[in-house]
Amino acid sequence: MKFCFLCGKKTEKLINGYCEECYNKKFHLIKVPKEIIIVKCSKCDRIKEKNKWKDIEIDEFLKNKIEILGKNVEIKIEKNDILKIYAKGFLKDSKKIKEEIHEVKFKIEYEICPLCSKKYRNYYEAIIQIRGNITSDDINSIDDIVLMKKGFYRIEKVKGGYDLFISNKYLAEKIANFLRKKYKTEIKRSYKLVTSKEGKDIYKNIILVRISD
Ligand SMILES: [Zn+2]
Ligand SMILES: [Zn+2]
Repeated sequence: MKFCFLCGKKTEKLINGYCEECYNKKFHLIKVPKEIIIVKCSKCDRIKEKNKWKDIEIDEFLKNKIEILGKNVEIKIEKNDILKIYAKGFLKDSKKIKEEIHEVKFKIEYEICPLCSKKYRNYYEAIIQIRGNITSDDINSIDDIVLMKKGFYRIEKVKGGYDLFISNKYLAEKIANFLRKKYKTEIKRSYKLVTSKEGKDIYKNIILVRISD
């Protein structure tokens, strides 16, 4: 007769020094990180996994994050504000079925993958025509605003100022607002009609920001 070194129970069979019950309490079927961050491309929905952009579903990505320690482990994942991972199976040296629930914090962050940023480089919803002088610090601030909102833009030096081609209209308003707060400006808005292939009317916003010296 042997004794479990944790609970002291007499048993015929010890697993690593534990009775089957304690062994099942002590060890887990799966190992999961405390927090999972999913980086997704906001344009094509691909997911970044180990620094590579992949065409995988979120569930598959999550499954890849789970390390299986037991045998015949079935996994079910429930996504709400938090992830609930249900595991059912056997520990390596046990014949007793075990069930576990693991709670994991998770967050989705959006980026634009290199493929999409290449593809959309010429894409824009709004143009800001800045007329007057701005500084390189201003351009840095504009970079920050665009980055923070996961957008992108192209800048062109033109006579009397700059033209900014901006990925989204909302972002363009943010930038115009930034300039309006910093300088004495005159702002005019207009729209350019671009008809798409499907015959749907699409407008591009044009914001003229004239900066007085
Ligand atoms: Zn025990
Ligand atoms: Zn993409």
